Parts: sequence; C-alpha cells; structure tokens
Amino acid sequence: MYYAPIAIFGYAVWLMSEYGAKMLGAYGKFLVAQYSFTLMHFFVVYSLLVALGGLNPVKYFKAQFTPFIVAFTTRSSAVTLPYNMEASRKMGVPDYIYNITIPIGATVNMDGTALYQALSAMFIAQLFGIPIQPYQVWLIIAAAVIGSVATAAIPGGGTIMLAYVLATLGLPLEGIAIMMVIDPLADAIRTAVNASGDNACTVLLTRIIGEKLQPQI
Ligand code: ASP
Repeated sequence: MYYAPIAIFGYAVWLMSEYGAKMLGAYGKFLVAQYSFTLMHFFVVYSLLVALGGLNPVKYFKAQFTPFIVAFTTRSSAVTLPYNMEASRKMGVPDYIYNITIPIGATVNMDGTALYQALSAMFIAQLFGIPIQPYQVWLIIAAAVIGSVATAAIPGGGTIMLAYVLATLGLPLEGIAIMMVIDPLADAIRTAVNASGDNACTVLLTRIIGEKLQPQI
C-alpha cells in the first residue's frame, strides 16, 4: 500500500511519455465533464428535492456549505458524517430522523460516485476505441447505481468499485489505473455531492413522513 502512490506516479509518467498532450487533453475533458454534470446535479436536482421537502433551497445551500467543503477536502463521506448531521439540525430536521438517514446515506447514497462511474466507463470505452451499443447505456446506468451503493465511504472507494462496473460491461480493467491518476481531483467533487445528497433526501423524507422542519438558519 505504501508504494502504491509511487506505482501510480510511474504509470502516469509512462502514459504521458507514450501519449503526451493527447492524454492530458483527454483527462482535462473528463474532469470538465465530470465537474459540470456533478455540480449541475447538486444545484438543480437537490434544489428540487429540498423545495419539494418544504425547505428554501438557499437555506439548504447555506447549511450544506461546511459539509460540502469538509467532504471536498477529506474525500470521505464517513469523515463528513458529523458535519452533515449538524447541517441537518440547522435545516430543522428532527434528530430521530437524521440520526438514521445520514449514517445510512453516507454508505449507500452516492450520486456523485454513480455519475463518476458511468462517465468513467464511457471515457475508458472511448479511450480504447470500444463502441458502446444503445442497450449498454442502460447497463452502464444500472451497474453504476449498484456500484455506487456498494462503494465504501472512503477516499478512492469509487475507483476501486469501478472494477466491477468495467467488468460488467466487458471493458478493460487497465482503466482503473488510468482513472487512478486523476482520482484526487475526481474524488473531491463526487464526495462533496455524495454527502450533500444525504441531506437533500433527509429533508424530503421529513416531509413525506409528515414531520415539520424548523430551520435554524
Ligand atoms: N470518496 C467517496 C466518498 O467517501 C467514495 C468514492 O470514492 O466515490 O463518498
């Protein structure tokens, strides 16, 4: 494990020397696409969810700011757990609800990771010149959703589980090493959105079970 970063560095050097600027450009495009789609999901889908739950989205984003930053910098939904619970309290969710939903959400609810795994599978298929058939798009979505549920709430967990998504689609497992090179950047945003999704769902659930929110922000 101690030597893994050196191996990844060596692999990155080989990739760059072999494919040069082409590889850097591909990584750049992947990250722009991933950050755009993930942030769009964060702002659009979560605004809708909390609005349906009866909370002003501005209040949600305000309360969610600290957990977002903690998740972005630690890259771990597990580490972000207490900050997410504090944000839930500020949004006015009763403690008996968030005490259950936030820990469960931290391990199974990972929208950012599902988006990342689906996008990575498409990226790797393109990189290796493997055409994706229309029916495989549904397979990618299903595999990414199941893969994200099974992902551990730790840094890099989503890239390890990418092995399962690639294997399901019959894509080359070398893709894991290729994605590892940019994992610190890709993991930061997906973890921030994974954690934020837990609170958006918690707000909606509070409404569904007939409880009232009492926001403190
Ligand atoms: N780091 C992510 C999390 O803790 C999991 C992943 O690697 O996708 O939520």
